[in-house]
Amino acid sequence: MEESVRILCLEDLASDAALAEHEIRKTIRDYKLRLVENEQDFIGALKEFQPHLVISDYLLPTYNGVAALKTVLELSPSTPVIILTGSMNEDTAVECMKAGAIDYVIKEHIKRLGPAVINALEQRKIRWEKEESIRLLEMNEAKYRYMFANNPQPMWIYDLETLAFLEVNESAINHYGYSKQEFLKMTLKDIRPPEDIPVLIKDIETTRTNLNPAGTWRHIKKNGEIIYVEILSHSVMFGNRQARHVLIKDITVERNAKNELLLSEERFRNIFQDNISVMFLIDPVSGKILDVNKAAEEYYGWSRDEFLTKKIQEINTLKNGVASEIEKALDKRQIHFEFKHNRADGSVRDVEIFSSRIEIGGKPALHSIVYDISEKKAAEQRLKLLSLAIEQSPVSIIITDNDGIIEYVNPRFCDLTGYSYNELMGETPRILKSGHQSAKFYKELWETILSGNNWVGEFQNKKKNGDLYWESAIIAPLVSSNGRISHFIAIKEDITEKKILYENLVQAKEKAEESDRLKTAFLHNISHEIRTPLNAIIGFSGFLDQPDLSEKDRKQFIDIIFQSNNQLLTIINDILNISQIETSQVVIRESWTDLRKLTESLYRRYKPDAVKAGIEFSVAADNGKENRIYTDESKLLQVLTNLLGNAFKFTHEGFVQFGYSIREEVVEFFVEDSGIGIPESEQKKIFDRFYQVDKKVSRLYSGTGLGLTISDAYVKLLGGSFTVRSSPGTGSRFSFAIPIDKGGQPQSHQVIPHLLRSDSTVKTILVAEDEESNFALVKAILKPHGYTLLRAKNGKEAVDMCKTKDEIDLVLLDIKMPVMDGFEAAREILKHKPGLPIIAQTAYAHPSDRSRAMESGCIDYLAKPFDRRQLMDIISKYLK
Ligand code: ADP
Repeated sequence: MEESVRILCLEDLASDAALAEHEIRKTIRDYKLRLVENEQDFIGALKEFQPHLVISDYLLPTYNGVAALKTVLELSPSTPVIILTGSMNEDTAVECMKAGAIDYVIKEHIKRLGPAVINALEQRKIRWEKEESIRLLEMNEAKYRYMFANNPQPMWIYDLETLAFLEVNESAINHYGYSKQEFLKMTLKDIRPPEDIPVLIKDIETTRTNLNPAGTWRHIKKNGEIIYVEILSHSVMFGNRQARHVLIKDITVERNAKNELLLSEERFRNIFQDNISVMFLIDPVSGKILDVNKAAEEYYGWSRDEFLTKKIQEINTLKNGVASEIEKALDKRQIHFEFKHNRADGSVRDVEIFSSRIEIGGKPALHSIVYDISEKKAAEQRLKLLSLAIEQSPVSIIITDNDGIIEYVNPRFCDLTGYSYNELMGETPRILKSGHQSAKFYKELWETILSGNNWVGEFQNKKKNGDLYWESAIIAPLVSSNGRISHFIAIKEDITEKKILYENLVQAKEKAEESDRLKTAFLHNISHEIRTPLNAIIGFSGFLDQPDLSEKDRKQFIDIIFQSNNQLLTIINDILNISQIETSQVVIRESWTDLRKLTESLYRRYKPDAVKAGIEFSVAADNGKENRIYTDESKLLQVLTNLLGNAFKFTHEGFVQFGYSIREEVVEFFVEDSGIGIPESEQKKIFDRFYQVDKKVSRLYSGTGLGLTISDAYVKLLGGSFTVRSSPGTGSRFSFAIPIDKGGQPQSHQVIPHLLRSDSTVKTILVAEDEESNFALVKAILKPHGYTLLRAKNGKEAVDMCKTKDEIDLVLLDIKMPVMDGFEAAREILKHKPGLPIIAQTAYAHPSDRSRAMESGCIDYLAKPFDRRQLMDIISKYLK
């Protein structure tokens, strides 16, 4: 609703006021009129009533129209004032108009008031509207100025022509670091890097026509820092100048971040693409190859495009089995794999793969780095083989550093030396030194290997337990890639056994040669030794039946035949003994042996020879109480006989002495002479078979070279060994000690004294013998000694005779007999005549014969052939 027009009327005359209202009422329908008469009311109404129009009387009693006009202009300048006057001259009108009245109306022409009011209101409206627009403008400008000044975004306005800054805001000042004054003295060029100026000029040209140019530029701050800015600008008039208002957005941080991202992306792409390692990106679900690098193209021989059509299953020889491996890599259970991969050329290579799960665009992928390990694998295989060969080598291997400190030994080395691996580490091979090799030996060894050469030779070394052993070794220096010796390797073979074997072989060979030589000599000897007595026997036997032979000659011939027989028997005995020894068939039969008796009988036996040769002969018997030892008497007797025989044979003058001495555990026997002696070099050899110091065919001394061999073997069997002390021209002393077996007990065949018949003076002997000649011999020996002889021709007869003839004191029983053999006969006889002494006799048949005879109950055994003395000795032993 339009408001009423408010009219303030300053009039002191009520009639004039009514006239004026009358005119107004005619002109304006809707109005409010306030009438005031003085200045005070007028000012109050001006303020309170706020009139649209003032109508003022020119002349008032205390006030006037011009003053009122001034007050209106002061308090409400837009309110128009019409001056109402009674009489108006020209000057008054001009004065009012000058003072700012919009019109004047003379009271006489009151009718003009209506149009004057209309006009004044019109004028007022125009003026008001104008003022309003100015006010609005001013308000806007202030608003914009405020917004410009306080905008947090840097802004400025520059002159499009000169590029000079015309205005900058606080934010720009803060951001760039220049003060406002500094800004206003600069142009755009001053905040651009010099290299950007040409672009700037060009930009200005092209953007001059562009109303809203925008873009990204580089600016320099006062501190020299270059920043990247994005600008928005638009053309403005700044005063009367063509200007541009610019909004600046600093995008340096963003841009840098973006650049970083780009750079990093590029970097990673390069790392992947240009990496010398072969790389894949695989889709873990399908196995599809998502990407490969150049190295992969080169290595596999497929282009990247070809790869991108493949799945890893086509490359991995595991085929579909690769899926489970991918799983492991994906959940990081395993990152390292070894596979076999196909390549474009059809070759299959061993590869080592390191796989890791990565995320690409939120999806998992497998990044795999591939290394060809075919060579490494082959080398590993070779190395494995080599180390296996070394570990399991039957030769011992030792590796030291170049100072000789042990770094490795193989198990064989430990087995051989007895040292554990750990004991040897850090040691040097000196630990094995036996002291057998000289310092010079080691010096030469070191010189050889340090000069880069192999040393080949033999050592005698010492094991941990002190045992010595021989080894043949090759020691070689190991040269590293820099040409320096880094290690030494010794490859050694235990040759102890070989060496012993070799030495034995050499000895055996020497022995065989010696044996051969000796055998040849022996054959010469033996034929001589056999032929000599045989000649005598045959020759002199032929003379015996000569009728004209004198009794003296016959006796002499018979003596010669007898001696020759003995000689022959000795030789044959020796040969048989040695063959028994060599075939290990000698059996030791121990019994209580009275040494005093033994030596006495030997003395008696050799005394005549000594007297004949004019040699002093004596016994040095031990006078201790105990003269009995438990030993094989017959072996002991044979040894002493051999020694005494030699002593007399090789002694031409001086003495021969023999004897024994009993000590704690042993009894030592000796035979000493002042004979020809034996050179030192021969003293061992004389114990060899057939060995004789005098090897000439035309020897001075008879013999077969077997006596000492047999004696040595027997002494060894009795538990002793020989000692020889001799020097040529002075004499010899042979001695041997045998242990006394104190725990020994008499054996069953030992004579049991109370069973012996000793009452009768004439003894009856039953000779069971099928051979006529043998019986004749026995008869010839025993008859002269007053024995009564009975004869049985077989075992059965012997048994029968023993049953029937009580006078039989002793049976001489041949083992090999018809009808019933000796073993059975002995058992049968003893059934009827327990305790009857039966002496078995047999030719050398089998060593077991003797033991079997003893088992059958015989008390002794006599081997054929025997001589008179042997038969007499054994008979007298049981028939006292
Ligand atoms: P033989 O006496 O039958 O030749 P031996 O084996 O008994 O055989 O003796 C071997 C050798 O030893 C003899 O040939 C002799 O050269 C030497 N020999 C043995 N005993 C003596 C000794 N008492 N004095 C000197 N040489 C001896």
